[in-house]
Amino acid sequence: MSESYTAPLADSLFILERVIRWERLFDLPAYRHADGDLAGAVLTEGAKFCEQVVGPINAVGDEQGSVLLEGRVKTPDGFREAYREFTAAGWPGLDMPQEYGGQQLPLTVQVAFAEMLNGACLSFAMLPLMLRAGSRLLIDHADDELKQRVVPKLVSGEWGATICITEAQAGSDVGRIRTLARPQADGSYRLTGSKIFITYGDQDFTEQIIHLVLARTPDAPPGTRGISLFLVPGILFDSGQANGVRVERLEKKMGLKASPTCVLNLEGATGYRIGEQNRGLNAMFTMVNLMRLEVSVQGPAIGAAATATALNYARERLQGGPPDAAPVSIIEHADVRRMLLIMHCRNMAMRALVFEAASNLDIAHHGEDEDERRRALQLAEFLLPVCKACGSEAGFEVASLAVQVFGGHGYITESGVEQYVRDVRVAAIYEGANGIQALDLVSRKLLRDQGARFRILAGEIESTLAETGALGSIGEIHQATQTGLAVLERATQYVLQLAGEGRQRAIEFSASEYCRLTGLVAGAWMWLRIAHAGADANDDRDNLLNHGNCARFYAEYLIPEMHTLAHRINISFTEMEA
Ligand SMILES: Cc1cc2nc3c(=O)[nH]c(=O)nc-3n(C[C@H](O)[C@H](O)[C@H](O)COP(=O)(O)OP(=O)(O)OC[C@H]3O[C@@H](n4cnc5c(N)ncnc54)[C@H](O)[C@@H]3O)c2cc1C
Repeated sequence: MSESYTAPLADSLFILERVIRWERLFDLPAYRHADGDLAGAVLTEGAKFCEQVVGPINAVGDEQGSVLLEGRVKTPDGFREAYREFTAAGWPGLDMPQEYGGQQLPLTVQVAFAEMLNGACLSFAMLPLMLRAGSRLLIDHADDELKQRVVPKLVSGEWGATICITEAQAGSDVGRIRTLARPQADGSYRLTGSKIFITYGDQDFTEQIIHLVLARTPDAPPGTRGISLFLVPGILFDSGQANGVRVERLEKKMGLKASPTCVLNLEGATGYRIGEQNRGLNAMFTMVNLMRLEVSVQGPAIGAAATATALNYARERLQGGPPDAAPVSIIEHADVRRMLLIMHCRNMAMRALVFEAASNLDIAHHGEDEDERRRALQLAEFLLPVCKACGSEAGFEVASLAVQVFGGHGYITESGVEQYVRDVRVAAIYEGANGIQALDLVSRKLLRDQGARFRILAGEIESTLAETGALGSIGEIHQATQTGLAVLERATQYVLQLAGEGRQRAIEFSASEYCRLTGLVAGAWMWLRIAHAGADANDDRDNLLNHGNCARFYAEYLIPEMHTLAHRINISFTEMEA
């Protein structure tokens, strides 16, 4: 049985209050009914819920997994009850509009809650992710009747939801979707095809499941321009009979075992088109930012859970020291301290960056000034592929280091830390594999506007550098951020130059390392802001992981990776350009 979950509430609230300064979000008209005190109280309750209700089902979920019994999914012991408590407390609707029954708190608050939910049990958190994505999609694109009928049920969690994009021949290459939707005389459609990897394609929490399916109509043009979006209810709205949606099998997988990953067959299922014909992918794009944000937080979520577990273990495990004296706690060993520092520094940097992206999305959607909204959206759009790719990579690295801190015991299931490694691995793959995120960053977010979005980020970092000054306890991280920005600016110029020379293959070769470099430098920016907000802020972590130490560690130990990354971006590897 793994250790219990401890939510990183204090760290999250510190970042929200003093780094992101969430108070300004409650001045936006959409959020004036709330304030920082209320949101802080909500997150404190959320932390308790995650620790007491969700954390305890994580290990049992991994052990039992979801199974298929007589064509229906059965989730592991305790999941149904946890879901019931989750919906009864109103957690699915935290940031959803009040008009659909939500609490309409900022997305930033939702993301902080999502971090705790994912850290407590990643498998459980996958269903709320689908609910929120589905609600957002319908709010933005469905007609009023369908919206009123379906969205309140998703916001309350009474109904489940899925997002059905992937097919065997259409993974990253979404344009190859083949599922067919034939129009019917009554305006509905009949859908036929097979979707794979569908998260919570079936479950035993809710009677109704709303499947949001990408498919093509009979004469649709090939590729992404011929894809439409359909709502397919698991139970037909009018008759209450089962629709033609069948779970063919559940995938056996490396981790996330309690989250049922389904092959879903649509066998003449009745569906309703959402939005314009052939514009389904555009509709999906409106929730890409949201989904990326929510997946971005999974890395720091698991990373923080793994770090808390490893820290406790390092204090208790006795090994080493002089042979004639009692053994010392392994936290006394420099190498163990080094690992714990890497873990905490990476987590905090990524958590703060994800919160920064979320707060910009809040301003982008609800800001009062149009220029401010546009600027916030552009900054968020630049940061999101970085958050998704670097957050998931950091989560995996940190979880793996937690196993290392545990030694052989970490490799044993009972420790609970090996589950973190298996569970978080997929975050680098789904919701757009990290390689695709890097290509998106470089081609759509950097080159398409000749670096304008990048200039917004650089401008923000420059403002922080000017505000904070290089003196005192933040001297090292200030210097590291300044140097990091200069290195990133040179790398950016180089990628822009490659584009000018038409060297597309060289750009693609450099994209992942450019994305990592951006994440590393943005992490220094976050640590500068954290240290400036409270370099001496202390906690119960033996001083090792206090903000001042960590900012210095990031500056001295982690940021030098930028030289390797910059070098890799600059090399001309001719084989790649052939
Ligand atoms: C646990 C789990 C849950 C999932 N849940 C859902 C869900 O609920 N709904 C849903 O629709 N899908 C879901 N997926 C599917 C997921 O989104 C896809 O796995 C993902 O989009 C990648 O597609 P693929 O697996 O076919 O990989 P591929 O597209 O085959 O990619 C394989 C590799 O090739 C690289 N690659 C591919 N194309 C390019 C290119 N043009 N340029 C450079 N590199 C490229 C990728 O980066 C990757 O490294 C889930 C997957 C998993 C594992």
